[in-house]
Amino acid sequence: MNPFNLTKPCDEWTGALTSKGYGNVRYEGENWLVHRLEWYKHNGPIPKGKIIRHLCNNKKCREIEHLACGTYMDNSADQKLHGSPVGRIGNSPREARIADLLEGKLTVPQIAAKHQTSRGAIHKLRKTLEPR
Ligand SMILES: [Zn+2]
Repeated sequence: MNPFNLTKPCDEWTGALTSKGYGNVRYEGENWLVHRLEWYKHNGPIPKGKIIRHLCNNKKCREIEHLACGTYMDNSADQKLHGSPVGRIGNSPREARIADLLEGKLTVPQIAAKHQTSRGAIHKLRKTLEPR
């Protein structure tokens, strides 16, 4: 399935991977996810709160044409498009919590209260946000 009309094949990273399956590399003394580093080299610093998405849905891919800067909301839309399980990310109450977390204006207890859920659930959600 190729919903973005990608013209180039995936350029798969063959080095070390994180526990989540993303390419992992050291660059200028820091640990980077390979796809984020690739995007950074082409486009400069990644805006705060933004993620680098794989349009090809291949976590190991570092082909710049397949990478796009976006939000978690975009990412979950991609996952729906790709037919990946969306139960974990994607239903709208969850997206609202993610949006609040990414906005950074509310504390975890405030977000938990606003969405009538536990602090633990919000902490857990926050952990899923950054693939590190
Ligand atoms: Zn790719």
